[in-house]
Amino acid sequence: MPFIDIHTHKQADGEATIITNLYEDFESAASLSLCTLGIHPWYADRISFDALSKHAKQSNVIAIGECGLDKLATTTDWALQQTLFRQQILLANTLQKPLIIHCVRAYDEVLKTLEEENAQVPVIFHGFNKNIQLAERIWKKGYYTSFGMALFHEQSAVATVLENCPEERFFLETDNADISISKIYEKAAEIRKTNTDALILQLQKNFQAVFNI
Ligand SMILES: [Zn+2]
Repeated sequence: MPFIDIHTHKQADGEATIITNLYEDFESAASLSLCTLGIHPWYADRISFDALSKHAKQSNVIAIGECGLDKLATTTDWALQQTLFRQQILLANTLQKPLIIHCVRAYDEVLKTLEEENAQVPVIFHGFNKNIQLAERIWKKGYYTSFGMALFHEQSAVATVLENCPEERFFLETDNADISISKIYEKAAEIRKTNTDALILQLQKNFQAVFNI
């Protein structure tokens, strides 16, 4: 299917290849076609690292995450968030699967931790909604940004980020927004002054470059 939704919590979509993210109930991964499993900073109490390592080995689990650091996630203390994030970077290295990053108000810490733990897999910052300076730091490290609903927010600087993003450094996603991925592609094509077909081809290339499937 032409459209690729790199990060969604839906489990099916008639018009797109979707990568479903699970942050609990990892057993259900077996019934999905492509998915990612991770311990989300908000929901660390729902799942153990052992459960993650066990289920993440399945071949339809194509990345680890979303995982990362979130300064607004008060349900999981900061030290535990850091420990879990480090463990998940090491797991991604061991399994040679990319990382999908959830990051809220902790970009310095996330970038530093990826370096300290020597992340050796592709790294995708999902739901990117920050400024061009930060995006450039991410791209310079060879990491990726994924864009979604924020592209529709008039006051957000993120449209400028997508406009200036190198073509091989980005993905598109719906996350938990009530919108179709084709609408996100349309908006992204408009911002980048290209057409949807060209975008479809580029994102298929990016997908093949990052995911080992
Ligand atoms: Zn999500």
